[in-house]
Amino acid sequence: MTDVRPAMPSGPAADAAPSAPMVETTELARDYRTQGGTVHALRDVTLRVGRGQLVAIRGRSGSGKTTLLSLVGALDRPTRGSVVVDGLPVSELAESALVDFRRRRVGFVFQTFGLLPILSAAENVEVPMRLVQTGPRERDERIRELLDLVGLGGRGEHRPYELSGGEQQRVAIARALANRPALLLADEPTGQLDSLTGRSIMALISHLVRSEGVTAIVATHDPMLIDLADRVVELRDGQVVDGGG
Ligand code: ADP
Ligand code: MG
Repeated sequence: MTDVRPAMPSGPAADAAPSAPMVETTELARDYRTQGGTVHALRDVTLRVGRGQLVAIRGRSGSGKTTLLSLVGALDRPTRGSVVVDGLPVSELAESALVDFRRRRVGFVFQTFGLLPILSAAENVEVPMRLVQTGPRERDERIRELLDLVGLGGRGEHRPYELSGGEQQRVAIARALANRPALLLADEPTGQLDSLTGRSIMALISHLVRSEGVTAIVATHDPMLIDLADRVVELRDGQVVDGGG
């Protein structure tokens, strides 16, 4: 009962060689046009992230971390350049294909957890599986497996308000992994947590990278968490200043 992941739909894209990077951005740029002029949020970011790595994206507020994660997760479109994830040219895909990409191939974790307050922990984890029409028996099994994995076995019936911040973020991580994505994107997942809890969340992500084989990109400006990453990429003013390549 270790690795039971099915070949489809969560396996790598058919055109992705196992040795190909999980994420490849090429001269990626995103400009925002505002009343005050154009903001160059990301400039010429060329980045390769190997499979099974935990990569931390570090940089001050405003350095482009959220913009980069949004482009990699196809929540946003680049102004220039390209993004390939697991062999899929996501910056080229039509919106209909992107819906499927976001549901099946990436999992998102945000600073504010984003759990639905009227649903229990288990029901929150279930939502992404309902969206891809996973059957009820498989959903129940996966929910149990995931809640155990994040250390919340037995808390499935609890509503978010009955859980601490760290526990809510664990539920959000379980939810992000529900459809066995190849890639986990976390945007300041510890930003609302005290430092000890934040570290345990980063340690959990690190553990999941090893045990589930998922690739994780975590934006953080917390220097205390950096040592848990396999690699650190530093952004400044929308450019990679360290750790690219
Ligand atoms: P970080 O996540 O590192 O704090 P962001 O990616 O959120 O940085 O922002 C990078 C830059 O782009 C900042 O200067 C920010 O003000 C700007 N920016 C982000 N989103 C928008 C937007 N929707 N419209 C205009 N400017 C934006
Ligand atoms: Mg941000």
